[in-house]
Amino acid sequence: MQVRLISVTAPLIRVDSQELTPEGLMAYCARVSSPHQETPDYEKLLGYCIAKKHWSVFEMADMTVEIVTSRAISPQILRHRSFQFQEFSQRYARAQEIEHYEPRGQDSNNRQNSLENLDDVTIAWFEKAQKEVAVLALERYNAALEKGIAKECARVLLPLGTRTKLYMKGSVRSWIHYLEVRTDRSTQKEHRDIALEIQKVFMEQFPVTSAALGWG
Ligand SMILES: Cc1cc2nc3c(=O)[nH]c(=O)nc-3n(C[C@H](O)[C@H](O)[C@H](O)COP(=O)(O)OP(=O)(O)OC[C@H]3O[C@@H](n4cnc5c(N)ncnc54)[C@H](O)[C@@H]3O)c2cc1C
Repeated sequence: MQVRLISVTAPLIRVDSQELTPEGLMAYCARVSSPHQETPDYEKLLGYCIAKKHWSVFEMADMTVEIVTSRAISPQILRHRSFQFQEFSQRYARAQEIEHYEPRGQDSNNRQNSLENLDDVTIAWFEKAQKEVAVLALERYNAALEKGIAKECARVLLPLGTRTKLYMKGSVRSWIHYLEVRTDRSTQKEHRDIALEIQKVFMEQFPVTSAALGWG
């Protein structure tokens, strides 16, 4: 799993001869009806907008991240329909690697939860099983390509652990709600780990918003 910041909205206007930050831009747009649109401070304003659920203000700035994960997790990410995506296509390029995950036990009381309660023998068995499947799947997949079978057909041989890369672009509003949901324990750990990495990036880029949300 890897997360990398790709871009953040870069405002072009200046206020008091100063470049606006992305958060300054959101505040500037929020004050469209105010005679004090150029007020430089915005901590209170952004906090107020969050408290009053004035979410459209947070649609005025965007952030894009690159995510490397597996095909088991990318469909969960792609469900966040307010984002724009580009994902690695197994129709056009050769799949290269298969991710390995540490197994957890099934929580019998909560289907959305898993438990770190497996013994070493079971963990070792699963790791071996993952390796065996990965070796066999890649061997057959590569053989299929060598026989001239199209990538879009050969990929059916690949497991959900196959590595993928995607670009995810969304407004600060979308990121706030994505991060609230996907850093929660109800989200699968492998996805939660991605969301926690994105949250670190978000907190660096949007420190005032993050503080108002009580993050960090
Ligand atoms: C634990 C968990 C289990 C799931 N299980 C299933 C399942 O079994 N089957 C299935 O099909 N799907 C499941 N999903 C997917 C889920 O139903 C959504 O499709 C997915 O989380 C995307 O959320 P979204 O539609 O809100 O999209 P997003 O793109 O995240 O949000 C859409 C819009 O709503 C806004 N928004 C979101 N929350 C708020 C809020 N609180 N206040 C104001 N605006 C808000 C966003 O800003 C955005 O503009 C699960 C998700 C989770 C987290």
